[in-house]
Amino acid sequence: MAEPSRDPPSALSADFMSFSPGDTASRWLACADLQQEVYCHLAEYVPRILCQGGGMAEHREEQREEQREELALQLLLLAPLEWFLLGGEPAAGLALLQQGGGSAALCGHVFKVGEPTYSCRECAADPTCVLCMQCFLASAHRHHRYRMTTSGGGGFCDCGDAEAWKTGPSCQNHTPADQNRETEEDPVSLLPPAVEERSCSIFSIILQYAVDLLTWEQEDQLPAGLEPPQRSDSYYCMLFNDEVHTYEQVIYTLQKAVNCSQKEAVSFATTVDRDGRKSVRFGDHQFCEQAKAVIVRSTSRQSKPLRVQVMHSALVAHQCFALKALGWLGQIIQYSDGLRRILCQVGLRPGPEGENSSLVDRLMLNDSKMWKGARNVYHQLLMNSLLMDRKFKKLFAIRFAKNYRRLQTDFMEDDHDRLVSVTALSVQLFTVPTLARMLMVEENLMMTIIRTFVDQLRHRDAQGRFQFDRYTAQQAFKFGRVQSLIGDLKYVLISPPPQWSQQLRTKFLDGFETFLDLLRCMQGMDPVVRQVGQHIEMEPEWEAAFTLQMKLTHIITMMQEWCSTDEHVLIEAYKKCLSALSQCQGGLPDGEQPISLSLAGHTVDTFRYQVSQEKVSIHLPMCRLLAGLHVLLSRTEVASRLPEQLPLGELSPHLLIELPLRCLVLCAQVHAGMWRRNGFSLINQIYYYHNVKCRVEMFDKDLAMLQVGASMMDPNHFLMIVLSRFELFHTFSAADLRRRYREANKDLAQQNTLIEEMLHLIIMVVGERYVPGVGQVEPLDEVRREILHQLCIRPMAHSELVKALPENGNKETGLERVIDSVASFRKPGVTGRGLYELRPEWSKRFDLYFHHYSRADQSKAEEAQRKLRRQNGEDTALPPPRPPPLCPLFGSLVNLLQCDTLLALEGAVLQWAVEPSGGGWTESMLQRVLHLVAMALLEEQQQLESSGADEDVSFTFSTRITRPGEAPSTSGSVLALLESLQNAPHLEVHKDMITWILKMVGNIKTTRERTSGSSVSVSHGRRPEESVRDKDKAERKRKAEMARLRREKVMAQMSEMQKHFINENKELFQQSMEDLEAAATATEHSPPSLEPTCVAHICVGPMRVGGAERRQLVTCILCQEEQEVRGHGRAMVLAAFIQRSTVLSKNRSRGIPDPERLDPLFMHPDLSVGVHTASCGHIMHATCWQRYFEAVQQKEQRRQQRLRGHTSYDVENGEFLCPLCECLSNTVIPLLPHACSPDRSVEHPCLETWLKRTNQQAAALDSTHRKQSHGAAQQVEPAVPDRFRVGFDLQNSFSSGVGEMINTFSMSAYKVGLKVNPNEQDPRVPVLSWSTCAYTLQSTERLLMDEKKPLFGSLPCRQDDCLSSLTRFSSACWTAAPIRTVQNHFIRLLSVLVPIPDSQLEDAPCILDVDMFHLLVYSVLSYSSLHSLDQSGRRSVDSAHLHLLHLVTVAHLVQVLLTFTTGELSMDQDGEESEEEQLTCQLYGRLRDHLGRCLPDISCGWRLWRCVRASVLPFLRTAALFFHYMNSASPPADLLGTGPGQWEALCSYLSLPSNLLLLYQNQRTLLEPLIHRWCCHPGVGQVLHGGGVLVRFPRESNRLIDLPEDYSILINQASSFTCPRSGGDKSRAPTLCLVCGCMLCSQSYCCQTEVEGEDVGACTAHTFTCGAGIGLFLRVRESQVLFVAGKTKGCFYPPPYLDDYGETDPGLKRGNPLHLCSERYQKIERLWRQHGIAEVIGHAQEANQTLVAIDWQHL
Ligand SMILES: [Zn+2]
Ligand SMILES: [Zn+2]
Ligand SMILES: [Zn+2]
Ligand SMILES: [Zn+2]
Ligand SMILES: [Zn+2]
Ligand SMILES: [Zn+2]
Ligand SMILES: [Zn+2]
Repeated sequence: MAEPSRDPPSALSADFMSFSPGDTASRWLACADLQQEVYCHLAEYVPRILCQGGGMAEHREEQREEQREELALQLLLLAPLEWFLLGGEPAAGLALLQQGGGSAALCGHVFKVGEPTYSCRECAADPTCVLCMQCFLASAHRHHRYRMTTSGGGGFCDCGDAEAWKTGPSCQNHTPADQNRETEEDPVSLLPPAVEERSCSIFSIILQYAVDLLTWEQEDQLPAGLEPPQRSDSYYCMLFNDEVHTYEQVIYTLQKAVNCSQKEAVSFATTVDRDGRKSVRFGDHQFCEQAKAVIVRSTSRQSKPLRVQVMHSALVAHQCFALKALGWLGQIIQYSDGLRRILCQVGLRPGPEGENSSLVDRLMLNDSKMWKGARNVYHQLLMNSLLMDRKFKKLFAIRFAKNYRRLQTDFMEDDHDRLVSVTALSVQLFTVPTLARMLMVEENLMMTIIRTFVDQLRHRDAQGRFQFDRYTAQQAFKFGRVQSLIGDLKYVLISPPPQWSQQLRTKFLDGFETFLDLLRCMQGMDPVVRQVGQHIEMEPEWEAAFTLQMKLTHIITMMQEWCSTDEHVLIEAYKKCLSALSQCQGGLPDGEQPISLSLAGHTVDTFRYQVSQEKVSIHLPMCRLLAGLHVLLSRTEVASRLPEQLPLGELSPHLLIELPLRCLVLCAQVHAGMWRRNGFSLINQIYYYHNVKCRVEMFDKDLAMLQVGASMMDPNHFLMIVLSRFELFHTFSAADLRRRYREANKDLAQQNTLIEEMLHLIIMVVGERYVPGVGQVEPLDEVRREILHQLCIRPMAHSELVKALPENGNKETGLERVIDSVASFRKPGVTGRGLYELRPEWSKRFDLYFHHYSRADQSKAEEAQRKLRRQNGEDTALPPPRPPPLCPLFGSLVNLLQCDTLLALEGAVLQWAVEPSGGGWTESMLQRVLHLVAMALLEEQQQLESSGADEDVSFTFSTRITRPGEAPSTSGSVLALLESLQNAPHLEVHKDMITWILKMVGNIKTTRERTSGSSVSVSHGRRPEESVRDKDKAERKRKAEMARLRREKVMAQMSEMQKHFINENKELFQQSMEDLEAAATATEHSPPSLEPTCVAHICVGPMRVGGAERRQLVTCILCQEEQEVRGHGRAMVLAAFIQRSTVLSKNRSRGIPDPERLDPLFMHPDLSVGVHTASCGHIMHATCWQRYFEAVQQKEQRRQQRLRGHTSYDVENGEFLCPLCECLSNTVIPLLPHACSPDRSVEHPCLETWLKRTNQQAAALDSTHRKQSHGAAQQVEPAVPDRFRVGFDLQNSFSSGVGEMINTFSMSAYKVGLKVNPNEQDPRVPVLSWSTCAYTLQSTERLLMDEKKPLFGSLPCRQDDCLSSLTRFSSACWTAAPIRTVQNHFIRLLSVLVPIPDSQLEDAPCILDVDMFHLLVYSVLSYSSLHSLDQSGRRSVDSAHLHLLHLVTVAHLVQVLLTFTTGELSMDQDGEESEEEQLTCQLYGRLRDHLGRCLPDISCGWRLWRCVRASVLPFLRTAALFFHYMNSASPPADLLGTGPGQWEALCSYLSLPSNLLLLYQNQRTLLEPLIHRWCCHPGVGQVLHGGGVLVRFPRESNRLIDLPEDYSILINQASSFTCPRSGGDKSRAPTLCLVCGCMLCSQSYCCQTEVEGEDVGACTAHTFTCGAGIGLFLRVRESQVLFVAGKTKGCFYPPPYLDDYGETDPGLKRGNPLHLCSERYQKIERLWRQHGIAEVIGHAQEANQTLVAIDWQHL
């Protein structure tokens, strides 16, 4: 079937060219029925312009098509509208409008996904008030405490909105120029009347048109007046988005249904996901219906099918234009407030059907039926119009509120994200406090929201409570969506009103009542019953209920805040709450016989109820709200001022405390292990009950309710009820307290825990006074106390503290306002984070029984505090701190401390404690009793201190405890018991505390006696004298104490300084530790050479020193045997890791070379890919290592059979972990003996002689080789030099074991370096071994240079060992290869510098295309193959090395001069030219002679020489390293430091003249022809003329890219970054390559590429081109560094960005401003440059197995 033929574009264009928008507009102006005219125009043109078939064409073609379409649309459709509107040429008209009308002082910038937004934590009305980056940078908030987040898209900048900001509402750019224009002047009046009239009519036509089309439901029809002139049979098969089907399902289905490629299917799916719909087929009706049928059929199996419609092409065209037209409206109104106002009027004008029929209403009510793209466009228009106009924002808000219920219901039925729902606009309306209050008053918004919410949750139990356990997945999904309503409620309530109107009071209280209905449905939900005997079968659902509770927590708190601002509201709310609660609890006492309890002479009646046997629920929101309101009554003093208005008399404290007490007892029983059979769900619930997210409106309020109840009851009654609920009453009421009463069904340990928990509860009921209203404290005191107790556990980071504190509705904890008063900040080092430490004076406020401590926290804090006291030389008693006074309403709470029942309890526990514990009591129990006693004494002391001398202090605890205990017990008084326990040996731990108590009793007694007048003093005759002595003693003690404190302070300071120093210089310490280690091992196996110091240090040539016959002893880490390194001995190896590297690359654009064709013999000076070798320095026997590796392989095979998965290392690729240090390795380097000393007996030939002879040898070999391979007879047989045996057979100087290991490493270097399979026959094998040696040396030298470390002696020993064995290995590796191959390599290498006579070698590269250091290393290492044939008996190999060095150095000089660029013009040096400068000039002159105008004319020798010296230095340094390791020559002292004289020392070490130019000057006749040949190589001219890669010297070291100091700059960059593949789309995970600065679209289908036959994400793909497999990235939205190695390995690394508290923010969750920490960035850079990334990944994956399972290749 063929596609219908399209109109050729040219025909279209011709028609269009003659079109005049001005004429059309004039016609419209003149016509009678404008709508008809416009519709007619649209009917004709829209389908012709926007109906160009499907998007199956080539990508580029498609783009061009789109551009044409856009142009035609602008010219034929939009331009006439503009001409009409403005009555003339649009550009001029618009400019005029802009001047006349002025535009809004609101920014209104609509946020893109991922764009940074800023909120001020000091000035924003709520956290939803945000600024765009431009506004933020121009605002005052830049200097405040701000929060930065990335936008999820939607929403706009609030700059200029006075209600959004407490101060500084406008940035500099949006400050209204004329403050007076603020007045509510109608902007329409500023428009010319004609424009007003025309805009009114054209806006209403266009808006009507757009609304009609977007809400159109027929597939084949068009609205009246739009039917096209000729109707064609062309249709689209339109696929719509849903959130049910996955990407993969859609892609698979499409491939089948429309027969497209995978790539096209991906593109369709991406567009559907982004725009909400996409046509997947264009053609006649039947053609499209077919596709539809296939799609529907194949997606309907598991779920509801994908939505597909076959739509007429004209309809689709009109819908497209409708969107364009809305966009146009949005733009045009930006020119004038008047136009905006008119559009608003048009939009909200009621339609013909009355209520809800305005165009905006129609759009909103059809929202859930529209596709994503359409919704986005009209939402954006609403934001640009209605929300930007003060008057209409209000009117729109009313429409929104009126439709609220319907919109929300639609949203529940829809499956799209809230982000693309019109309901999301609530944040723009409800967060404006005046609007919210207006809507509350006029539209009863609060009630509407709550009602809508409650109605959505339909499952209820018999009592009408929510029931979540029967939810289906569908309902659970809905439950997720319905929670957004709570968000709306939160917006409405976020700021309490500054003034209340009577109406507001009424409506709020109505809303409050509705809210109580909601709470009523929660009160008592999810009840639990203790499981006995069997374990529960299925964990009950509990999360939904807690989710609801968590979401409502802030709402409940906000309700209370609102109440607290108006006493009338508070009183009414209290009454409503109380009566609602009474209704709820109406049935509580029914049907139960009350029981009567008596203890210590008191009696009380209570319910018969046991938590352990009956239903109990954790959800008691009604009780808790009442508790909160009750505390408010106290805080606002309403209770004391207006008691007559309160129903306090109706309160039954017994009822009030009943349910909260049951809940607390439940917790205690769970702790005691009585509920084990109820499973984890209960444990989780108890956890959340206490958790910081819930506790404010759960645990805290239950405690408050007990305080409320206790303050209204007789303390004895209260305690007896508590005892009874804890099921402990009989334990304490038993006749004989000496013997513990044991209930049959409980074990002793459980009961002990219950007693501990109960005592703890009493401590909290009396002691927790930091809630304003309970105690006389300020709100910040509460926060300070929380922080203090967190820091008593240990020093903590800012984020840890934030997590431990509850947030309010504004996401604030108040932490920053108090933290500095209680803690001091300690900055982080290069790792770790900044910490807060408690200031010492605050540890006195530590309360061991702080109510928010978990048991674990408590014991940690106790331990830390006792340790601290011991360190300070204090006793270890941890008495309670002085509590703040209680508020009057709660004043009677203190009586609990001295009531008879508590004294009886205390007496009982103390009595038990007399005997060492046999399970009858516990230390915790005793500790709590002591704490209670201490609290009582503190209370008494405080009352004594604050009371006047004559006042009677009613609190008489100290006298009560002297009374003997209850009869019939024979025990003594509490005091007597304490005195007897003081010295009990089994209570040593508590001795300090008991002593503290007894001292306290003494003090109180003294105070009481002193205040009760002189009469008492008679009985104490000796007192005055005693007190004088005491005073003396005290004074001495005080002085001693002062001295001690001073001493301690000094000590502390010193140790602090020391710590600080170590922290600051951590690197240094580590370094020096490594150095020590290095020194230690160095002496171990290579004793310092005892060369006479007078001998010059020379590393190369016949004069070289070293390479002595030193014995090398090493130890195998596997078998611990010692072994000497010998060529013929047992092979020893070093674990090593080989990887490809681009760290030194000067050319990242060079693609990945084809491994089969690559000739690695000549390294290009751009060093684009090298092979790097590293080692952890651990040595093994080759045989031991082989055994180990085989074991690893077997283990891996077994593991793979058992469970499929990855390890951090890839055994199949030869990877393993070093058996000692677990460092990632993939091969081993054999250890070889030192080089022999030079043969000083022979006479060494001069350069000329050597060159001549070598040339001859090379030529002879070359010809022989050719003869052997081709059999062709040579015409001229080159003369074979004297005693040079071409066919000589070598004897291998290595044992087979060593030889095998040489082979192993060669093969690894070959395999990794070329990424090929092993092939021993490949002539490139030895080259790769030399290559990794040269490259590793080069990268080591760069690091040393850049870190300004000395060339020798500063490497850690593992690196030193690695380089040394690597170099010695490479000088021997030629023996493993066929000798002919190596000889051939040498001849080819030599031919770069020297012409080989008669050779028929392929052309050697020009010297600009060869890295000279690599050339040096390769030729030196391959020379041996030639030399070994020389049977002249002269071991002149050393002079050959030196000559090669000379030659290559000269070539490098020439190379540097050829690439010299004038660069920046620096000052010329005055004065005499030095010899070097003159000679450089001369050489440069010669080069110019050869090359002519290719080289710039430079006569300044100083500049030339400066450049040459700087460029040659790295070469010389690397050469020195190379010969040092090869010949084991010890370096001169100068090179062990970085002082002056480096150059000279280096030259002399290399046996070169320090004036390098002499190398050329002294051999001019010999070298001149060579230089001529180099320059005349055609390649040179080509490169210099830009025909190749020109590398200039000195090569600068690579660094990671520069990062901005402020992280938000990066976020902004990333937000404007679009995916390069899917036309202008925002990237979801923009990721920055730290190596080259490339921004990538990571973790997304759109940017997957195929690498080696597998689809990989953008990061992995980039890694292969940019880093040869290794990648470092910054994931910008997550603020995370990503390391990737190959396809399967990766890890995350802390980013180099820190907030002011010295913490990173992965995921940007906290939103504190982030700044670059350059030390951390340098650390990452160093890792990269040291080739340590793979190792870091290996260690990270070993430490964290979940990292292994991540599909890194998809990133
Ligand atoms: Zn802005
Ligand atoms: Zn602004
Ligand atoms: Zn601010
Ligand atoms: Zn061994
Ligand atoms: Zn190791
Ligand atoms: Zn890159
Ligand atoms: Zn992409």
